Amino acid sequence: MGPTRTPMQRSSGYDPNPIELPPLFQSSPKPFAMARWLVTKFMWPQSIMWIVLAVLTFHFVTPGLDRFRSLDVGDVAVLWFRNAAVMFVVIGGQHWWLHMRKAQGFEFKYEARWLSNRRKLFTFNHQTRDNVFWTLVSGGGVAALFEACMFRLYATQAIPQLESLWLIALMTFVVFWIEGVHFYLNHRFLHWRPLYRSVHALHHRNVNTGPWSGISMHPVEHLLYFSLPFVFVLLPGSPFIATFCMVYLMISPSPSHSGFDRFVVNKDVNFHGGDFFHNLHHRYFEVNYGMLLLPLDRWFGSFHDGSLEAHERFKGRKRNLNPSDQSSY
Ligand SMILES: [Zn+2]
Ligand SMILES: [Zn+2]
Repeated sequence: MGPTRTPMQRSSGYDPNPIELPPLFQSSPKPFAMARWLVTKFMWPQSIMWIVLAVLTFHFVTPGLDRFRSLDVGDVAVLWFRNAAVMFVVIGGQHWWLHMRKAQGFEFKYEARWLSNRRKLFTFNHQTRDNVFWTLVSGGGVAALFEACMFRLYATQAIPQLESLWLIALMTFVVFWIEGVHFYLNHRFLHWRPLYRSVHALHHRNVNTGPWSGISMHPVEHLLYFSLPFVFVLLPGSPFIATFCMVYLMISPSPSHSGFDRFVVNKDVNFHGGDFFHNLHHRYFEVNYGMLLLPLDRWFGSFHDGSLEAHERFKGRKRNLNPSDQSSY
């Protein structure tokens, strides 16, 4: 063991350039550059991949709506099993490639150290087992329950449903923006001190994160986090959009918490992997609560762009939220 570290100090690793706001939200808004940013940086490749994965999941491994007309435990269990299988393949695949096979070593890794496999802070005293447990058992379960509830509402025609494929596609794109607000609000709430200590500290055990850390959360946090599709009780949506919300919420945090800024394919090709914006949240705790797409942090004064100037600005404000201080679960 090296010297005790505080969350403000980290092992030297890959330091990306400071984060720029999306072009629409810079001091002089640039709508055309924003359109280009959306296509080339935001949608490609990850957001497109989540939509494709949701289409495959919905069409090939999700039971038809009729089954959910009378909802029972078995229907939730089927979705839970489906969730676990999808997460095992996609999240487990990244963990295997990056952290077990160590295919790219520390290249593009934010912290030049591996995950903690012997630390009392974690359930089972093991970061990966802790993360897999909370992800599959609590995360997969709550997501299954909420998706089944949405299916039941659609099966009984209790809520408004879009029929046009174009409108469903458009609303799928709108989900990213709705989630930008939804995630900021529930995450900001989770940093309210009593809730932080009893609930959200579980996610923040992970300062040096891996793919399984993404939705390694307390069950109460899962209830908030996975409540996104319930906005479609009021807004017109569709069963596919309910599945898309869940696939997006379950899977997209895995590359963003992978610990690697870029995924290396070979020496000439690499693509966008981690989310430096959220990585800074795990390092500094009281910054970057939301997402870059809709920079609510910028508007409410908690935006950390990763620069030294931002580090100086925030270090005076930081409260002691070191997860080592929290009691274990
Ligand atoms: Zn996180
Ligand atoms: Zn947090």
